[in-house]
Amino acid sequence: MKLFKSLRFRFAFWTASILLIALVAFGVYMYESVARELNASVDSTLALNASQVISTLNFENGQLINPESGVSQAEAPDLFELGISFRIISQDGRVLQSLGPFKSLPIPETSDIQNSFYATYTDSTTLKPFRVYTVPVIENGRSIALVQVVRDLTNEQGALLRLRSILWFSIPILALVAGLGGYLLALKALTPIDKITRTARRISVEDLSSRLNLPYIDDEVGRLARTFDEMLERLDQSFRREKQFIADASHDLRTPLTAIRAIISMILEKRRTGEEYEQALRDLWEETDRLQTLTESLLQLVRAESSKNQMVETVDLCTLLRDLSESYKPIAEAKSLEMAIDLPERLVINGDRDSLIRLFANLLDNAIKYTMKGKITLSALEERDGMIQVIVSDTGMGIAPEHLPHIFERFYRVDKSRSEPGTGLGLSIAAEIARAHRGRIEVKSVVGQGTTFIVFLPQKKGSGLAITHFHS
Ligand code: ADP
Repeated sequence: MKLFKSLRFRFAFWTASILLIALVAFGVYMYESVARELNASVDSTLALNASQVISTLNFENGQLINPESGVSQAEAPDLFELGISFRIISQDGRVLQSLGPFKSLPIPETSDIQNSFYATYTDSTTLKPFRVYTVPVIENGRSIALVQVVRDLTNEQGALLRLRSILWFSIPILALVAGLGGYLLALKALTPIDKITRTARRISVEDLSSRLNLPYIDDEVGRLARTFDEMLERLDQSFRREKQFIADASHDLRTPLTAIRAIISMILEKRRTGEEYEQALRDLWEETDRLQTLTESLLQLVRAESSKNQMVETVDLCTLLRDLSESYKPIAEAKSLEMAIDLPERLVINGDRDSLIRLFANLLDNAIKYTMKGKITLSALEERDGMIQVIVSDTGMGIAPEHLPHIFERFYRVDKSRSEPGTGLGLSIAAEIARAHRGRIEVKSVVGQGTTFIVFLPQKKGSGLAITHFHS
């Protein structure tokens, strides 16, 4: 039963069936054409023979001369030698002359026959097939005699019989061979699919290391096998990343919790002074603050990853950035940093407003956090390819080239000693939000000179014209 459900059986079945139908149609057509050709050639030979016989007949005053013999005795052997079998029938139904296998052929009524015709009959004694051509000899509009020429059809019918048996045998055999060929071909082509099925069955979330590792052939199945391996690789990586993320998150959550427990157990050891309790509470506040920031960041990251389907709001980035920069100005000024803004009137995208605020807030946060003096610049422009660029640059400490490829990784922090507060999640959240908006973030940095983050976001379709018009 399993075999019937297999693709290779169906492939073989359909190959054989289609070929069978095509071959039967071709066989019928060929057989019919050959039979028609043979009949036509027999009939034209008979017509020629009849005219040869008629040309030897002599007439006078509408009567056959020498009606007893019809064809003169001298000419009859000639015709016989030519292989012509003929019969001449007089007006009153007498056979004047007969050469050939006419024994069982009934004598037609001469006067009834005005037009020549062909007929096939089987000799009742020999059972041989014959073709007869009957031609009336017309004189003064009257049929005065009939000439019948006849030809043995044994050879033709034998040839047709042979052709028929060849077709009967060869067509099913050919279809069978095609089916078998189809089966073997499908078997060869589909073997990797069976391997894919077995591998897929073996795979579980715990072990994503299995690969097909089939030798690559550039065809449908080869590409499928390769895509399958690539998909496994991606899944494997993302599961490993997830595991790492959980490990990092638990570690980062545990650190402030351990600190809190330590503070509490220390304070409970003995009676403390009022100042000591106050200091302990301050320390606890700091640790819970870290916990809160971390859990909020984790929540934001999860939200950013799952917000891909909510990019439906029409957001004017310029207004959003202007408002955001307003709220960051006091923080920058508190650090004596200048804040420069260079934004066009309007840049519209489809997206989620809250996520976008989070994205740019994280970049501005970092710019202020990692810059000691100088300025923060926030600018935006419209690219020709339908992408909008938002640039956040600072004149801060910069990022060393060896750290640059990792800063978007979760929990990655350049300064592990954490002299600056942070979770190492800000940039991964920003990158995730950009990705959810079908955009990306690029970074350029020179240590000691500053860092520039460029956010690319796709512009809302149809809004380009309005903007170009606005600028002109
Ligand atoms: P954090 O919470 O540590 O700021 P982020 O994911 O936001 O985490 O950033 C990752 C690391 O990238 C930071 O620890 C910091 O070292 C570096 N970084 C980010 N932005 C800047 C910047 N504007 N200037 C210098 N370094 C930066």
